[in-house]
Amino acid sequence: MATNSMNLEDIPSESLMSELLRRMKCASKPDKRLILIVAGPPGSGKGTQSPIIKDEYCLCHLATGDMLRAAVAAKTPLGIKAKEAMDKGELVSDDLVVGIIDEAMKKPSCKKGFILDGFPRTVGQAQKLDDMLGKQGVKIDKVLDFAIDDAVLEERITGRWIHPASGRTYHTKFAPPKVPGLDDVTGEPLVQRKDDTAAVLKSRLDAFHKQTQPVIDYYSEKGIVAKLHAEKPQKEVTDEVKKGPPKKLRNSMDFYSCFEYTFGFIVMPLLFLAQISAVVCSSIGDDYDT
Ligand code: ADP
Ligand code: ADP
Repeated sequence: MATNSMNLEDIPSESLMSELLRRMKCASKPDKRLILIVAGPPGSGKGTQSPIIKDEYCLCHLATGDMLRAAVAAKTPLGIKAKEAMDKGELVSDDLVVGIIDEAMKKPSCKKGFILDGFPRTVGQAQKLDDMLGKQGVKIDKVLDFAIDDAVLEERITGRWIHPASGRTYHTKFAPPKVPGLDDVTGEPLVQRKDDTAAVLKSRLDAFHKQTQPVIDYYSEKGIVAKLHAEKPQKEVTDEVKKGPPKKLRNSMDFYSCFEYTFGFIVMPLLFLAQISAVVCSSIGDDYDT
C-alpha cells in the first residue's frame, strides 16, 4: 500500500535546521491566533507580500487560487468542478471554496494564525467565514487592502512568472529572476499562469469590482481595514504591510514563550554539544581500553 508519510532521513539537513530555527522563533509568538486577510485585485501584490507576513508572524498562507489550481492539476472532483469558471476568469461557487478553507484552517502550521489570500471574494463567503470563526471563538484581526489603479495591473499580470512548487513569484521587469525563466533557489523552470492574459484579466477585474470590492466595504464598516498603497515599489509596500497587523500582536512575548525561546536557543545547542562530546570521548575511551 502506498504511504504518504515522509522519511525524515530524506530531508536535507539545511531544511531540517531551518525548520527547527523557524519553530524556535515561532515559540516566541503569542498563542492568540492572528487572522489576516489580504484583499485586492489580481496583480496587486498579495502573493508577493504574503510570504513576508507569514514568516514575520509565523502564520500559514491560505491562498484559495493556489489550492484550486492544485486541485485542477490533480484532476480531483473539486478541480473538475472549478476548472471551467477559472479558465474564464469567473468565480467558482461559494460552497466549493468555503469547504476547502474550513479544512485548511485546521492544519498544524496554522496554529499561530493564518493569512487568507483570495478569500473571501463575495459577501456571502465573508458571512460564512464570520460564522466559521465565531464557532471557534475567534475573529478577523485585520484586512490589508491592496488598493491600486486597474491601469497598472495588465503589465504586472502579463509579466508574472511563478515557481509552482514554492509559489515564488517573479516579474520580467519588476522582479526578474537571476537567470531568465529559472527559479533563483532551485533552478527549476518558471511558468506563466494560463489565466494571466490581458483578455482573462478583464473578466477577473470585472469580478473583483462587482463581487469583491463589496467585501472590503463590508469589513470597512467593522473598522478593521488597513489601506495600503499597492502601486508603490515592492519594498515600500512591505514596510506598509508590516505596520498593518494590530500593534499588540506584533512583538508581545509572555513569560512562558520567553522561557521556550531562551530554552531553545541556549539550552538546546548545549545539549547537542554535550552529546557530541560524549560520543567523541567514549570513542577515545574505547581506543585507550584496547
Ligand atoms: P496577486 O497575488 O495580488 O495577484 P502578485 O503578488 O502575484 O499579485 O504580483 C503580481 C506581479 O507583480 C508579480 O509578477 C510580482 O512580481 C509583481 N509585483 C508585486 N508587487 C509589486 C510592486 N509593488 N511593484 C511592481 N511589481 C510588483
Ligand atoms: P487572482 O490573481 O485573480 O487574484 P487567484 O489565484 O486568487 O487569482 O484565483 C484564481 C481563480 O480561482 C479566480 O479567478 C477564481 O476563478 C478562482 N478563485 C480563487 N479564489 C476564489 C474564491 N474565494 N471564490 C471563488 N473563486 C475563487
